[in-house]
Amino acid sequence: MKYRKMGSLPWEVSALGFGCMRLPTTPILHRVDERQSISIIRKGIDLGINYVDTAWMYHMGNSEKVLGKALQDGYRQKVKLVTKLPMIFMKKEEDFDRFLNQQLERLQSDYLDMYLFHMLNETNFEKMKQMNLISKMEKARDAGKIKHIGFSFHDTLPVFKKIIDFYPWEMAQIQYNYLDTNIQATTEGLQYAHKKGIAVVIMEPLKGGQLANPPKEAIDVINKSDVKRSPVDWALQFLWNRPEIATVLSGMGSMKMVEENCMSADKSGIGSLTSHELNIIDQLTDISKKKIIVPCTACQYCMPCPAGVNISQNFALLNNKSFSNEGKLMSRLIQSLFLRNYTKLSKSKSDAVKNNNGRATLCVKCNKCIPKCPQQINIPSELEKVVAVFEKRQKVEMFRVNS
Ligand code: SF4
Ligand code: SF4
Repeated sequence: MKYRKMGSLPWEVSALGFGCMRLPTTPILHRVDERQSISIIRKGIDLGINYVDTAWMYHMGNSEKVLGKALQDGYRQKVKLVTKLPMIFMKKEEDFDRFLNQQLERLQSDYLDMYLFHMLNETNFEKMKQMNLISKMEKARDAGKIKHIGFSFHDTLPVFKKIIDFYPWEMAQIQYNYLDTNIQATTEGLQYAHKKGIAVVIMEPLKGGQLANPPKEAIDVINKSDVKRSPVDWALQFLWNRPEIATVLSGMGSMKMVEENCMSADKSGIGSLTSHELNIIDQLTDISKKKIIVPCTACQYCMPCPAGVNISQNFALLNNKSFSNEGKLMSRLIQSLFLRNYTKLSKSKSDAVKNNNGRATLCVKCNKCIPKCPQQINIPSELEKVVAVFEKRQKVEMFRVNS
């Protein structure tokens, strides 16, 4: 494992951090598979990971509970433990202590190495100020319950700069990957925070898995390259190449992912990519930008939908259909598989609500999901594209925005 500086903190953090948002789940009810999760988290730590990240909302609270169990038997002392205050559930100032105490209990720890305001955007930033939550954070720090204060971010560059300038933060967690250099905090925001000595931690390095399974044309570029790397390794090395980045969080869901990502981290380094390699990444970026239809990262914050729509799965099917190459025989076979997977989603409202597995057609446009989406996706409107492609059989190319 390679280790990197964590902003102005005297920490040496592993280049790869363990994100606990996409832990392995059971095949039928999609609950966190506790035994497997504990074993992959511990494997990551055994391979040198010393930074673990979770949140109140991940796996509906079960991520923190399982992580707490994984960190028994001496593992807690080997890591920096980070979780987040769920800003969207904060109704009043007093909620702060209730959440923090419960999180410490779930995590079976007396303290957090870092506590973040989760999902700061313009609205949550105002809420944070109105409820005087910085003072609550500082009191918790004085009491020894948390060691450092930071925030995770989903909004635009001007909002990011406003938040950065508001307080002497010790860490900012941003969404960044080779497709997202111009959205959310952007490269400029990354550099802005870094210059102020704030540790910048990266989330969504693979854009919710999309960069692990890029379009067919991108795979061709990768296969033809003289530098042999997997799509995931290209995406991760792009990040580790940058000096502003402290650690890269990967939401790992299997032992194979942990082992492969740790191997990638072993080979990482600031400024290690050649101009030829950076040029290959530029090509991958151009291809993927043209093919993505909905920038959904499958975070599930919008779920459950009262009508039972499995929002992220509908978007994944649409993007995957767009990623596969039209026209060729193999591609046509793959495309029919996407259609088959779409028809496996339920069209009956009662079944969909029970199992959260409904098709896009069930959306009643209540708009309840829209404020929950960190990517600011107009979900009901994007679901109409899913309906158009899978129900009305319109061509997927019609919906590509950057073609
Ligand atoms: S707008 Fe549609 S997808 Fe969103 S919560 Fe309402 S019914 Fe569900
Ligand atoms: S639509 Fe938005 S909130 Fe829902 S899973 Fe995708 S990115 Fe997350």
